[in-house]
Amino acid sequence: MPELPEVETLKLGLQKYAVGHKIVDVEVRVPKIFQDEKSQILGAKIEDVKRVGKGLIIELSGKFDLVVHLKMTGQMVYRDSKTSKFILSAKVGGDSLPSKYSHVIFTLDKGAKLYFNDLRRFGYIKIIKKEEVKALPFFKEMGPEPFKKTDYGQKTLQLPEFEEILSKSNLAIKVLLMDQKKIGGIGNIYANEALFLAKILPTRRAKDITKKEAEELYKRIFEVIDKGLKYGGSSDENFVNVLGQDGEYQQHFLAYGQEKKKCSVCGGTIKKIQLGGRGTYFCEKHQK
Ligand SMILES: [Zn+2]
Repeated sequence: MPELPEVETLKLGLQKYAVGHKIVDVEVRVPKIFQDEKSQILGAKIEDVKRVGKGLIIELSGKFDLVVHLKMTGQMVYRDSKTSKFILSAKVGGDSLPSKYSHVIFTLDKGAKLYFNDLRRFGYIKIIKKEEVKALPFFKEMGPEPFKKTDYGQKTLQLPEFEEILSKSNLAIKVLLMDQKKIGGIGNIYANEALFLAKILPTRRAKDITKKEAEELYKRIFEVIDKGLKYGGSSDENFVNVLGQDGEYQQHFLAYGQEKKKCSVCGGTIKKIQLGGRGTYFCEKHQK
């Protein structure tokens, strides 16, 4: 699932390419993904794009905004006469767009298109009145984010708050890190990587983490999020950027997906278990 760095990467891409365009038409091929009355946004101009946790807000002129969630395998790919020369990742579902995964197609002005692709079809696009966007449960219930440059009024996670969240939880630390209501934006990849660097076992009970360990983990979470963003997100699964290209962070994973490989820190072996229903990777030797 795309996490904070992937959604932030897509946001920056949409800001660069889609902002300034008008929405001329919307073709909805899979109604489940976009159920609202599209006439409400026809003719509206895309003014800005914001991110909250793993969600996107496409701000439009007029009364409404679009709220987009990629869920497991959603993509948003922009194509116009200039960008269509870029070769698409195989993850978009074909050599050209629309592909078999293109379920909602926005026709923009100046000959551009914006494709919402989704292999597994869990993602959604909603039309929301501007004043009601912040009241959506998804945004209202989002915890603070391990990211400094938030742009929709959401709070940056602070160390004392992080320590308090840990001290009150009986959950395994990795499960807690992925609880969007406690901390926004961290998913499976970044939770695994941060715990590996902080030398903490994913199965440790959150309230048993020492103050010193919590400080280290806090630092490492920000570090892996920044690293993910620096490499344009990770495309080990279905994430692609706004141009339909893969990110590169998967080439720099230390623990996630590295089962049976040698640990780059201590020479131990990376092990995989299931925790909270998710594949969990760690080094038994240096993570305690
Ligand atoms: Zn190790």
